[in-house]
Amino acid sequence: MQKTASPEVYELFRSTAREFVLKEVMPLASRIDKEDEFPVDIFKKMGKLGFLGVTIPEEYGGSGMDYKAQAIIEEELGYASASLALSYGAHSNLCLDNLYRNGSEYIRENYVPKLASGEWIGSLCLTEPGSGSDALAMKTSATTVGDKFVITGSKTLITNAPYSDIFLTYAKTGENHTAFAVLGNDSGVSRGVKFDKMGMRGSPTGEVFFDSVEIPKNRIVGEYGKGKDIILSGLNSERVILSFIFIGLARRALELSLKYATERKQSGKFLYQFEMIQEKLAYMYTKYETSKLLANKALTDLETDPMNSLSAAATIMHVAESAEYIAREAIQIYGGIGYVRNSEVERLLRDAILGQIGAGTTEIRKHLISSALVKNYKLDNRIPE
Ligand SMILES: Cc1cc2nc3c(=O)[nH]c(=O)nc-3n(C[C@H](O)[C@H](O)[C@H](O)COP(=O)(O)OP(=O)(O)OC[C@H]3O[C@@H](n4cnc5c(N)ncnc54)[C@H](O)[C@@H]3O)c2cc1C
Repeated sequence: MQKTASPEVYELFRSTAREFVLKEVMPLASRIDKEDEFPVDIFKKMGKLGFLGVTIPEEYGGSGMDYKAQAIIEEELGYASASLALSYGAHSNLCLDNLYRNGSEYIRENYVPKLASGEWIGSLCLTEPGSGSDALAMKTSATTVGDKFVITGSKTLITNAPYSDIFLTYAKTGENHTAFAVLGNDSGVSRGVKFDKMGMRGSPTGEVFFDSVEIPKNRIVGEYGKGKDIILSGLNSERVILSFIFIGLARRALELSLKYATERKQSGKFLYQFEMIQEKLAYMYTKYETSKLLANKALTDLETDPMNSLSAAATIMHVAESAEYIAREAIQIYGGIGYVRNSEVERLLRDAILGQIGAGTTEIRKHLISSALVKNYKLDNRIPE
């Protein structure tokens, strides 16, 4: 379990993150979206501030904190630029935290400090052209040749891929799966298109190809053949941490809506004086607050049981649906001007939609929730005769 700090330490940490975001990220957020530009310099600064390696122990170049601290950074970034928050999550949680938790001493000593400092940028490669929701049906394979593994296949929709120095890559090894640390400059690694997305613009998403890439055995992540467990525990952590992006985004949408509703007048009244606008604000606030409650509970669950897929799936499902609802209602409160390109609320809605797709779709989350309920609960204990 990671180190938990006192409430005062988290508060201080949040105010440092907020100050950084308001000063460095907020002024650039619209440009990041408009020009689809990944802000590499800001990313490097985040490394210097200890944000990138927040969950990594100090001896490996990190800040020695826990998922709660990582969630704080996600929330504060998500408030200003959900796309930067997504790239941060892919680097710091999906790649770096996963490599540290499951990697050998070789990986911890040689790769983890570079990712924590921001010298390197990282990605996680699971999705393939033929396997998204059914991730374990991947075609990318690794075969043993002498004292090496040889990886062949391709991955798609990979966050940070165009910039990454290291790819935490899953491959089929016989009937099972294994995780490997593949370097961007390994012979046989190449990148394909960078996708032109509707939202999360500025978070670069691309293809990666592996053409007989030779990997020494010390670059295996976790045990050979045990990749499935790493995928599942990693997905739970990813779902909980990425939820906080959408909590930050929802906070911004609610804040903008309140500001507009108390400034704009129609028919001689402020918008907030109309009952139908009041109803919107009430639902928006309640969905935002319930998202926070669920996500904070999920953080505790994650620390005590990383395999708790019920908590992680239920949290991101509720948070993502709520954020999309809140961003959509924000546009309605703004009326026509909210529909105009580069009004901030329209960006929030485009970004919010990713919440129901990335880290497993809403449909897959529903499947996970219902499966866990059926498995863990005896119906006859809950329904009185
Ligand atoms: C911006 C962005 C960033 C991403 N970053 C990464 C990354 O860093 N690393 C990575 O590995 N992947 C990444 N992904 C990929 C993402 O995880 C997948 O897009 C997602 O898991 C869905 O897979 P798919 O797109 O292949 O859709 P599909 O699996 O083809 O699904 C299509 C539709 O069918 C539904 N469906 C599929 N199976 C079922 C089922 N059993 N029951 C009911 N409905 C079903 C889905 O819910 C969806 O609505 C990213 C995607 C995006 C858009």
